[in-house]
Parts: sequence; C-alpha cells; structure tokens
Amino acid sequence: MRYISTRGRAKASGFEEVLLAGLAEDGGLYVPEHGPEPFDAEGMRRLQGRDYAEVAAEILSRFAGDAIDPDRLAEITRESYAGFTHRAVAPLVQIGTDEWLLELFHGPTLAFKDFALQVLGRLYQHVLEKRNTRVTIVGATSGDTGSAAIEAIRGRSRASIFILHPAGKVSEVQRLQMTTVHAPNVHNIAIDGTFDDCQALVKAMFNDAAFRKEMHLSGVNSINWVRIALQVVYYFTAALALGAPDRKVSFCVPSGNFGNVFAGLVALRMGLPISRLVVASNENDILTRVLCTGEHRLAEVCPTISPSMDIQISSNFERLLFYMHEGDAKQVSALMHDLADKGVFRIDPQAMDSIRPPFVAGRCDDAQTLSTIASVFAETGLVIDPHSAVGVAVARQRMKEDDEAGTPMISLATAHPAKFPDAVERAIGIRPALPAHLADLHRRPEHYTSLPNDLPSLMHHIRAHADAAQG
Ligand SMILES: *Cc1c(COP(=O)(O)O)cnc(C)c1O
Repeated sequence: MRYISTRGRAKASGFEEVLLAGLAEDGGLYVPEHGPEPFDAEGMRRLQGRDYAEVAAEILSRFAGDAIDPDRLAEITRESYAGFTHRAVAPLVQIGTDEWLLELFHGPTLAFKDFALQVLGRLYQHVLEKRNTRVTIVGATSGDTGSAAIEAIRGRSRASIFILHPAGKVSEVQRLQMTTVHAPNVHNIAIDGTFDDCQALVKAMFNDAAFRKEMHLSGVNSINWVRIALQVVYYFTAALALGAPDRKVSFCVPSGNFGNVFAGLVALRMGLPISRLVVASNENDILTRVLCTGEHRLAEVCPTISPSMDIQISSNFERLLFYMHEGDAKQVSALMHDLADKGVFRIDPQAMDSIRPPFVAGRCDDAQTLSTIASVFAETGLVIDPHSAVGVAVARQRMKEDDEAGTPMISLATAHPAKFPDAVERAIGIRPALPAHLADLHRRPEHYTSLPNDLPSLMHHIRAHADAAQG
C-alpha cells in the first residue's frame, strides 16, 4: 500500500514512512493512493463476534499491506487492547429507542485517543528496532493527546517523548495524567504561554531542518494516517453488533480536529453500511458552519466545558477536501492557501453535494451540554462526560428532524466523565470517581520542567535530555 499527499508535491511513501513522518514533506496529509480494499458482505460476516483486537489486526493489515508481518500485527493489537479495562474494549450501551452510546473511554488514559496511540507506540518500537534507529517525539497538547501519547511511549527504548502543555491552562486531571508518569524517556514541559504558543514552538522545531535531522524528530498528532486507520475499527465493531452488513446505522461524533469522524468516512468507503455521519460541534462550530454553508471562515477560539473540541483549524478536514474534489491536489492546495492568506475558503457547491449524505452537522452550547448530561442521567442512570454529551445532544436534534426512524443512531462517547469532574458535578451534583487504576492520581508526585515561551531554551532542553542524537 502506498500513500500520497493531499497537496500532490511529496513523493509517494510506504506505511512505515507514513507512520514515522506524520505530515508529508509538502505540508499535506497522507492518504492511501488506492483503496483500501473494501469488505464485501461475506468479509464483514467473518468479522462478526471476533475479539476487538482481531478485528483491529484485520482492518489495519489492509492499510499496512506487507509492511508488517501479520502475526506480529496480531500480537501488537492483542497487547494494545489487553490493557483496556472493559472486556468488550469498545462496549455499546443502549440509551433510548434506536439510540446507542459507544464507550471509547476504557483505555489507560480514559479518552478515545488510546485506541490509536496504544497501537502506535508498539508499531513505533517495532519499526525502529527493525531499522535500528531512535526517534524524539515532540508534541503540544491542550488535553487528551498528551497523556495518551505519553502512556503509549513510556518505557519504550527506541523513543523519547517531549510533551508541551500551556502552564496552568489544562485541567488538573489532564495535567496529572501526564506529569505523574515517571519513565526516563518521558519529558513534560510546562510552557509559560497558551496552547497556540506551544503548537507554534513545535512547528518551529519541525521547520528547522537541521534540528529535525539531528534529533530524529517525529510527530504523533492526529494528522498521522495510522491513527485514522485504527479509529476505523470501532465503527466496524459497533455496526456489526447492531446488524451490519444487513442493516444500516448512523454515527454521531463529537468533533474537533475532524480525525475521529473522518475515520467514519473511511469505514464507509471500506463497505460499512453507514447512513449518516453526524458531526457534532460545541460553540466552536467551524465544522458545522463549513458543512452547512461550504464556507470555512476562522473565528476566535472560545473556551467551553468540552475543551478537547475547542479548535478552529481542524487539520483533518483537508483529507475530506481531497475526497470531495476526487483527489485533485491542485484544488486542495489552492483552498489551503486561501485559508493561510485570507483566513477563509469557499467550497464549490457541487463538491459539497458529493459528501451530503453521509455528512450532516449540528452544534450544542454549554447550557445544552449540561442539560444533556442531566437528562441522560435521569433517563438511564449513566453519567456521561461533556464531550459525549455534545454528541448525544446533536444526535437527538438529528433524530427529531430526520426521516430515518428505525436506523440505529450510535453516539461516540469520547471521554470518561471523571476526566471532567467539574462540568459533570455542575450538571448532576455528583463528582464522578476515577477508575481504580487512577484512584490515587492526586497523591502521585509530579515531574515537569517549566520553560519560558522561547525556542532556543526549548531546543537546548531537548538536546540535553533526548538520547536520539547518536542514533
Ligand atoms: C480529541 C477529542 C475529541 C475530538 O476528536 P477529533 O478527532 O479531534 O475530531 C473529542 N472528544 C474528546 C474527549 C477528545 O479527546
């Protein structure tokens, strides 16, 4: 399997390069050149009733081609999902007539990011051993990616990881999940600045070709195609459990960077019978606006009680643009340049029509988020987190408007309620408890380095603490 860039000016790459590089050299995002090979009804029936890890290996092998030995791949997915605390890995819970919740928060760091990153960490180690080299992973986080990446890389001999977070601007649980991990290859840095400052520092290091080469820099942010491929898996297991390939289902996805819901589109292209992919936004509703109007216009980020979706530039949207324009990289590049130059681009109505259906979109503000946490609790006794509540609220709006009665609507529950205890307590008066493996989180000692918002000091720190330079 070969991968090409959405901007059309990087050379085609194999699975291993795509895994290690993340972003293509021309600034575009990798997508498969062809395929992947879709499942027919028989192929899907063969997946029914199998273990989550087995389905994951089967789906991932369609993206890896012959780059990774199938037995090794099966072992990697088995190890990755063995650490999840629910035996079903991604259980489905019914919350209404035709209404389901897909719980994606039973991984080690309690958010859906674990589904991809647990596997990614092991794939990295495998490929780096094979190539006898090392990498330095650098990333910025505003929330859940940092802890999921640290958990995936801790203790792996071939990689060091440096995660920057804005000092004082991530939730306490989110900070503790990162800073209480003690492993010689894990380095947390609190930057005196905002999340945007952190991201700008990371970008600047990647743009410094000499430093990038010297340190063998690598990124694990959500533009990495392998993360998308691994998120395809739970769309399959959920739809199969509710009757696929013989019955269609719809999904509603609380969205920020557009990675998770884009994986739903990939599942559809692989033959899964999906009726609607509902994109749910909080007050930062750029995705909803662009899907409803075709105009993508940047606005200020406004802080909400679902902070992992407080995003204005949804990087993965570029992949949707590529598919909408039938793989015309010139048109994608032109739109992305408009965005960089003028802060806005407009999508041709015909291109928009090509993705509607399956895509529909809706938004939900903080007040509706809180009332949805309360109504789900009153109706079912289930406590959901604010991100999942945005999804349920928007799914319910759609179910009222749509003539899709009888089609199951599956809302993705993207985080555990204990990650956002303040919002949950405001909604229902109950502070959700952390699961057993994190129960003493607040008593664990923290380790991190505080640095100013200054590139040379940061580079000096990374050079002094990474051990990739000789590799
Ligand atoms: C990352 C995240 C999202 C947004 O997912 P995208 O793939 O960026 O659209 C939603 N909810 C939670 C809890 C997250 O951590």
